[in-house]
Amino acid sequence: MKDFSSILLSWYAVHKRALPWRDVKDPYLIWISEIILQQTRVAQGYDYFLRFVKRFPNVQSLAEASQDEVLKYWEGLGYYSRARNLHKAAQSMKEGFPSSYRQVLALKGVGEYTAAAICSFAYQMPYAVVDGNVYRVLARIFGIDIPSDTAAGKKCFSNLAQKLLDTRRPADYNQAIMDFGALQCIPGQPDCKKCPFSRRCIAYKTGHVTQLPVKTQKTKITSRYFHYVYVKQGNKTWLHQRGAGDIWQNLYEPPLIETKTPQQDYLSSQPYQKIFGRHPAVLKVAPLKHQLSHRLIYADLSEVTLPPAQAVPKGFFAVPFSEVRKYALSRLVQKLLQKAGLL
Ligand code: SF4
Repeated sequence: MKDFSSILLSWYAVHKRALPWRDVKDPYLIWISEIILQQTRVAQGYDYFLRFVKRFPNVQSLAEASQDEVLKYWEGLGYYSRARNLHKAAQSMKEGFPSSYRQVLALKGVGEYTAAAICSFAYQMPYAVVDGNVYRVLARIFGIDIPSDTAAGKKCFSNLAQKLLDTRRPADYNQAIMDFGALQCIPGQPDCKKCPFSRRCIAYKTGHVTQLPVKTQKTKITSRYFHYVYVKQGNKTWLHQRGAGDIWQNLYEPPLIETKTPQQDYLSSQPYQKIFGRHPAVLKVAPLKHQLSHRLIYADLSEVTLPPAQAVPKGFFAVPFSEVRKYALSRLVQKLLQKAGLL
């Protein structure tokens, strides 16, 4: 389509979103905003971005911070590997933020989409961004029904995106297509009558708007059953730091017993007795549902009072009740503690 870019940029001139990372040329700030937006909606990421860059305004301040502090600033945002990768990547930048596409792509946690966004926004390099918004816009306007989550689909969309890119204005063009996907050509049923592409859009003309883009794989959701136990021992409670190989790596939480089924009696289970002995816990918060991208977690919270002499088991540490909020907690743990009036 010959005038694709001019239609898009004219639409953008009217509808451009005012965001704190827009019209910014500092690659560091663009990087932080793009990592936050990888799995987070703009409305939710907005305040996180402002708080994060206020505390860590440049590569050096982020590199010098502790991982615990970085995670604390990420608390509640989810996908915590993003924060750990940002921290590690900042520590790897010995000579400041990299300035070539290849070096940017080599940063921990940066894929092709993010590298294209950083290099086009900060350095005006001609790399087209291809994300979910772009798949949707291109699939509909050009009537492409190759599944976007296959190798062939990915190649097809990225070739087309690169061909359409306005190399004179790569930053504006990339931001325009993402905003167009987020505001005009939205998932579900967009308002096609008000769309500047409506006369050319193949999906609209053939009645296939809601069928495009095509995806083959459905995300498999598994259920897990978490039973948190809040310890009361004098004026202290126990926490532990989650390990590698599971969700919420390096975040903190009260002792947790996981069961395979919701019916299993965790209070008489061996893991419970190993940690708490024969002291019974009392249910404080009934099971609530917590949805993650690939998991549905059912979690409850009980409370157990322990004698002062009982030793803190290996893997846990005692903290005063008032200091729990200083630790980076998952949103689920925050929710449970708040419901029980413990945070
Ligand atoms: S006409 Fe509808 S489907 Fe086509 S690009 Fe516009 S909003 Fe998207």
